[in-house]
Amino acid sequence: MANQKTSFGSTPAPLMYLAKFENGKWQKGAIQTFSDITLSPFAMCFHYGQTVFEGLKAFKNPEQEVSVFRHADNFDRINVSLERMAMPPIPRSNWDEGILELVADLRNVVPSFGYGTLYLRPFVIASQAKLGVEAADEYLFLVVASPSGSYYSNPLKVKVERHYTRAAPGGVGYAKCGGNYGGSLLPFRKAKEEGFDQILWTDSRDHEWFEESGTMNFGFIIDGQFITPKPSDTILDGITRKSLIQIAKDLTMPIIERPFSVAELRQAFEAGKQVEAFGIGTAAGIAPFKEISIDGDLFACHHEESALMYQLKKNLLGVQTGTVEDRHGWNTMVTQSKLSIA
Ligand SMILES: *Cc1c(COP(=O)(O)O)cnc(C)c1O
Repeated sequence: MANQKTSFGSTPAPLMYLAKFENGKWQKGAIQTFSDITLSPFAMCFHYGQTVFEGLKAFKNPEQEVSVFRHADNFDRINVSLERMAMPPIPRSNWDEGILELVADLRNVVPSFGYGTLYLRPFVIASQAKLGVEAADEYLFLVVASPSGSYYSNPLKVKVERHYTRAAPGGVGYAKCGGNYGGSLLPFRKAKEEGFDQILWTDSRDHEWFEESGTMNFGFIIDGQFITPKPSDTILDGITRKSLIQIAKDLTMPIIERPFSVAELRQAFEAGKQVEAFGIGTAAGIAPFKEISIDGDLFACHHEESALMYQLKKNLLGVQTGTVEDRHGWNTMVTQSKLSIA
């Protein structure tokens, strides 16, 4: 995304967490040196797509104390994704070791306040060596991490996607499973070739109702009201989105969760309304849009400094970095690790 390319997710932190599911249960895991792993070429994750991931961040506050943002929500969500992919749910104890203990051990590589975050990538893959199509009975749960600089997103030029589909009712769109992202890469590349930075996904049947933006949720602010479609089986339940809705309420900004159509957006633009539009996700917080193309017509969004979306963005980052009161208990402070590493 945008100018994150060169820095985001390319430098691994020196430690990782690994736990195995075997003999019908998740075993106790361990924090170890970041290294390659060995899998059989028969490993089922290579063939039938039983792969699920999460993404979350650790921050430093001005006192350089480390916290993790809403990790219990990521825990709940990875288990929703695992269930959809017929994979075994992770116990909270493995999650807490993989996230909190790992971050404690990595506290020295969490970028200082104002200089970025430690991005955490938990994931589960089917490791059983077998070519038959069925749910595996051996899995690995890993957590890797990557220190990344402050995220700055240039306002994006986006295209309403009227042909390709990201997710369909009854499908897996609400799960963070690998195939959803693989399937989006070709439409994304084509949009790039046409000069766009991002896709606005619409529903699979009519290609008329907004769902998500690339691999983010998204919202509008029109007439001072924050509008975002509700999570469903085709709209992933983003933790950043949930957080921004709460922050909007705290700021007494009007907010409504409802379906929003391409026709309604076109009307808003044609009526000369000021439209703020933005992607919502862990990586960027809010990624502002500068232009939206609807069936070849390009409309300009309001993304100047006075835009209300920046207040939401600033408040979210403030809570995450300890400069705005954490009214909802979203941060888990991380202290010394209880596990010692070999
Ligand atoms: C991860 C993700 C989001 C955003 O979720 P956050 O919890 O806010 O990071 C939205 N849509 C899709 C498709 C995603 O994969």
